[in-house]
Amino acid sequence: MRQPAREEPIAAVTKRRAGRLSAVAAAELQRRAIALDLGAPVAIRVSPRARRLLLRVDAGERRVELVLPAGIPCEHGLRFLAAHRGWIMARLDALPRPVPFAEGESVPVFGVPHTIRHETDPRAAPVVVADGEIRVRGEPAHLARRVRDHLARLAAREFARRARAYAARLDRQILRITVRDTRSRWGSCSSQGALSFSWRLVFAPESVIDYVVAHEVAHLVEMNHGPRFWRLVRSLTPDPETPRAWLKRHRSRLLAYG
Ligand SMILES: [Zn+2]
Repeated sequence: MRQPAREEPIAAVTKRRAGRLSAVAAAELQRRAIALDLGAPVAIRVSPRARRLLLRVDAGERRVELVLPAGIPCEHGLRFLAAHRGWIMARLDALPRPVPFAEGESVPVFGVPHTIRHETDPRAAPVVVADGEIRVRGEPAHLARRVRDHLARLAAREFARRARAYAARLDRQILRITVRDTRSRWGSCSSQGALSFSWRLVFAPESVIDYVVAHEVAHLVEMNHGPRFWRLVRSLTPDPETPRAWLKRHRSRLLAYG
């Protein structure tokens, strides 16, 4: 299941010119863009296929992306960035605050807010998710990694449980289930029946997880997004529209944790 386009990109139609902007020139432009102080790193790419300058703010990576058609002079790209500084700053401002896995931070687990706490009891389990808290034992330096690993494991277990239940209802076999840190798609299903999910769905409410899992499991039967596919999805999870809208609205939030 592909994620929707991150942001409507700003585009400017430009004349193609002779000569090509080399990777070296792009790197040079990237260095000079730092002086514009845009409030986020700028990634600049030259695309021989691009017909116009494309500018967008990647919410997940929290960075500015500029795609230049081959042959656009360096100065032009820089001027374009400078001219859209206000737009870029407004987009960055509107992004959710990054929430690190750190003591005192609030992180949702299956949509329910949990506060991260350092566990001082040496007999406690390394990570415990209970009573609105994620309690983490051990060196504070390892806290973030422990939270991440634990949530990824929790996600894998929970997604697998739901996927098997749905697959049984459709009388299909799942080859394997993996969780990854994919930022461009929430889930996928291969033609061999291997399912993959973004572990970041662990932050989403259960109804959203149900929908994404049902969506990928339905691909075990229908490898397309036609009417029969959607009928199957609805047979597993009755209202796919609400979670779909939720994912669209909260995508950058899900990418801001950790
Ligand atoms: Zn799909």
